[in-house]
Amino acid sequence: MAESTPPDQIHITPGMQAYIDRNNEYLARRDRYIHDVVKKWRFDTIAVHGLYSVEDAIEDYQGAIIEPVFMSSSQAYRDSDEMAAALAYLIPTWCYSRIANPSTYYYEWAMALLEGYGYPGETSCCSTSSGMAAIMTAVQPFLVHTHQHVREDRNFVAPAACYGGTFQQFKVRLMEERGIEWRIVENPENIDDWASKIDKNTRFLYGELPSNPSMSFFDIQAVADLAHSHNLPLICDNTVATPALLRPIQHGADIVVQSATKTLTTSGFGMAGAIISRRNITSNIDSEDLKKDFAIYVKYLPNRDHGPNLHPMQAILTLNDMRTLRSKVDMLSRSSMTVARFLEQHPRVESVQYLGLPNHPLHDLASKYMWLVDAEHDEQYGKPVNRYGHLMSFCVKGDHQATRNVFDNFKRIWRATDLGRIKSVATIPAISTHQQQGEEGRKLAHIPDNLIRLCVGAEHPDDIMADLDQALYAASTH
Ligand SMILES: *Cc1c(COP(=O)(O)O)cnc(C)c1O
Repeated sequence: MAESTPPDQIHITPGMQAYIDRNNEYLARRDRYIHDVVKKWRFDTIAVHGLYSVEDAIEDYQGAIIEPVFMSSSQAYRDSDEMAAALAYLIPTWCYSRIANPSTYYYEWAMALLEGYGYPGETSCCSTSSGMAAIMTAVQPFLVHTHQHVREDRNFVAPAACYGGTFQQFKVRLMEERGIEWRIVENPENIDDWASKIDKNTRFLYGELPSNPSMSFFDIQAVADLAHSHNLPLICDNTVATPALLRPIQHGADIVVQSATKTLTTSGFGMAGAIISRRNITSNIDSEDLKKDFAIYVKYLPNRDHGPNLHPMQAILTLNDMRTLRSKVDMLSRSSMTVARFLEQHPRVESVQYLGLPNHPLHDLASKYMWLVDAEHDEQYGKPVNRYGHLMSFCVKGDHQATRNVFDNFKRIWRATDLGRIKSVATIPAISTHQQQGEEGRKLAHIPDNLIRLCVGAEHPDDIMADLDQALYAASTH
């Protein structure tokens, strides 16, 4: 099942060689299938089928049309030769579910192919238990000491406008606990701001786009070019856009992280994450394995040892939600546009931050990158169309208490620290997701006290607007 990264020193018996030969044939067949068949499909077909084929189902899974959930801790081998070859990663194997599993395998391939859609090269994926685990998985390998016995200054460059959990991971776990400097980009749309932070001790550039919840954005291509000119990778958090609207690898990013918990698992059934990388990433870390196939490297080595793996049940639940990603994100984006326009002209709303609104300062930049995938092949559109996702935020006229009053009056919109759901959900970041980072941290990330983050669900937009309207007016009579 798994890819293989053979270690240097291993004694290969004739019995092992037989397994290796057989499995090399299998891998060659699979790679041909990816190249000749799957890579030629449109986005929706990849989302529906991924790498799970009729042949796979009939030969191995009793014809099950849905990818089976392999709730098994480990894999048994025919004999010692097969075990030895498998555990040396000489043949595809899933051996132990912390390392690999057939259910997570299909999830990983769907994710790799969707984030790699439209990119001519190859992509691979490592699943993780959550989005935070994905971020940890993506950044840690670049923060190693490169010289034994020598403590090195290490830094990374990333905007402060990011998810609250990411802010804490970077500030507390990396900076305060481990002395790794986070060089904060204050204006991510300004390329010089990024450039001025890079020096010989920089290990990677990182950015979220659009950012949660403040909707900041940057020019991916320009930042990727800058990173590469310093022999550094660009890591992008693509959670809010999803591959239905944006595929950063196509624009030069080396690695993408996903909190698949969000819009990829619209149902809200649980937590999941992923990192997706292209082949031959750029990095100043002297490791060929790390650079050649980063996602597979972390899957079989660092993550084997750290264990932030995804549960097979959750892999299939998320995979199932992802099959309709494109049409769902299109519908949610269109509803969000309607709701954003409504809020924008509402007398009790101070401002609306939604990249789809033409007067948003980053509207033009976002419009360069955020396109509904395959709209030109959709009979409804027949041409490229911009879409901006279902996350927005708005500031209530008045103070923090007035904002809480509006929030407390929502009847249908759920008060929860969540996003990406099929149901509309709202939160006040200052008292929830971005509470831990304090007032100063929020100021850096442009998160005022009167800001409500709203993630528009699949209800009819008329009903969402009615709920917003009554809450905005009810609050003012207090
Ligand atoms: C939620 C979120 C994360 C963290 O993902 P979890 O699955 O909750 O661990 C990371 N980045 C962004 C943009 C998010 O919204």
